[in-house]
Amino acid sequence: MATINKQKIVDSVPQKGFFGNPKGLFTLFFTEFWERFSYYGMRAILVYYMYYEVSKGGLGLDETTALSLVSIYGSLVYMSGIIGGWLADRIFGTSKAVLYGGILIMLGHIVLAVPGNLSMFFVSMVLIVLGTGLLKPNVSSIVGEIYAENDERRDSGFSIFYMGINMGAFLSPLIVGSVMNYSFHLGFGIAAIGMLIGLIVFVATKKKNLGLAGTLPANPLSQNEKKKVFTKLGIAALIIAAIIGITASAGILTIETFINLVGILGIVIPTLYFIFMYRSPKTTSVERSRLIAYIPLFIAAVMFWAIQEQGATILANYADKRTQLNFAGLEINPAWFQSLNPLFIITLAPVFAWLWIKLGKRQPTIPQKFSIGLLFAGLSFLVILLPVYFGGSDALVNPLWLVLSYFLVVLGELCLSPVGLSATTKLAPAAFSAQTMSLWFLASAAAQALNAQIVRFYTPQTEMAYFGVIGVASIVLGLALMALSPKIQGYMKGIR
Ligand code: GLU
Ligand code: ASP
Repeated sequence: MATINKQKIVDSVPQKGFFGNPKGLFTLFFTEFWERFSYYGMRAILVYYMYYEVSKGGLGLDETTALSLVSIYGSLVYMSGIIGGWLADRIFGTSKAVLYGGILIMLGHIVLAVPGNLSMFFVSMVLIVLGTGLLKPNVSSIVGEIYAENDERRDSGFSIFYMGINMGAFLSPLIVGSVMNYSFHLGFGIAAIGMLIGLIVFVATKKKNLGLAGTLPANPLSQNEKKKVFTKLGIAALIIAAIIGITASAGILTIETFINLVGILGIVIPTLYFIFMYRSPKTTSVERSRLIAYIPLFIAAVMFWAIQEQGATILANYADKRTQLNFAGLEINPAWFQSLNPLFIITLAPVFAWLWIKLGKRQPTIPQKFSIGLLFAGLSFLVILLPVYFGGSDALVNPLWLVLSYFLVVLGELCLSPVGLSATTKLAPAAFSAQTMSLWFLASAAAQALNAQIVRFYTPQTEMAYFGVIGVASIVLGLALMALSPKIQGYMKGIR
């Protein structure tokens, strides 16, 4: 987008009014707060809904399939960001993308709120995947748009926004989880209401607070291109529909093949993305070097998110089956454990922000921070071995061990997650800057595609080996990254 347009957009946004930040941040904060409220609320009960028996209101799937499906779901939610980013960029602009996305998400939760079967679950999954792909990367892109090029408040804006994400993620498992034993559908209904509130906030305040931000596609398709693209998309949609129709009726398209397919896509898409960026004539040689530096960081991010996201699958299952839920006179709901990660994020994010400022130039480099992230992620799995080691595998585990595990992963998350997004924006070639948000989310997509494969090895008998092998793998990768970090730093060509 031309600079003049950028400045025009910034001028149309009231530059004060929300914690010293542009008023537009209020709209984006609450829209994303409610969207994450609905997403994480739904996700806190999803795995239980899938494997609880029908008599308890669940779908009665076997546990392994449920764990894989939740991972696939998480993977697709972030993978679809590429489509959402592209549509916003080339067709309708980020603001409309957020609006349409919010509507699809709400419809998805409504479908889940109506008692139904597995097919209804798949319909809602498609709606939420497409909706989140439209909303999530685009709402974050608008945050970037409301600040002038050199506005120093931008980082603080992103930190406030990140707090909004985690406040939504903290509140909803407590509320949605609490009604789960009464009715899963009521829980999904609450998620739908959350998204509705988000939509109302967005629609009611966007004109006043966001001005022109997000209203224009950054790189719109010309009339001619539109025709070509729509024809190609139409043909692709027909081919996909035909493949689904034929394979489903021939009995080849099972949940199993679907899980494998997404597993492959999770790896293939980012790989193609890298090759495409690397070979593009628009990429300069300095940018090529930075892309090389980004590859090990991306791999580290995949490993990190693979462990972090298992907090909602494997650890959720562990909370339900292996943990003493009657503790200190309290009846703990297993879904409440999902609030721990965002709670620790909210309380510790300011501490980390302070620490980085205090360390100034002595703070770890970007690759070193990623490496520390992996070490903590690995430790978060290894600590779970201790209670089994001391108490045997039959006894129920003290819930404080789980709390410790969620705490450790957050220490890693605060080293890797906020740094990761800004590192992506700095290391991605300028010609691809509009897609960097989706590029970063592809690490989470790949991680969960991988999870869908590895969660199959988790059984009560293999529990020790499972946590041990993954925990050690993360630590080994973290140490390798630490050793390589000066080299990676060199390839970053001055980026810090
Ligand atoms: N938990 C954060 C969110 O929901 C980060 C997601 C990610 O990068 O995977 O926004
Ligand atoms: N910490 C995650 C994110 O930043 C939220 C979660 O996993 O609950 O949003």
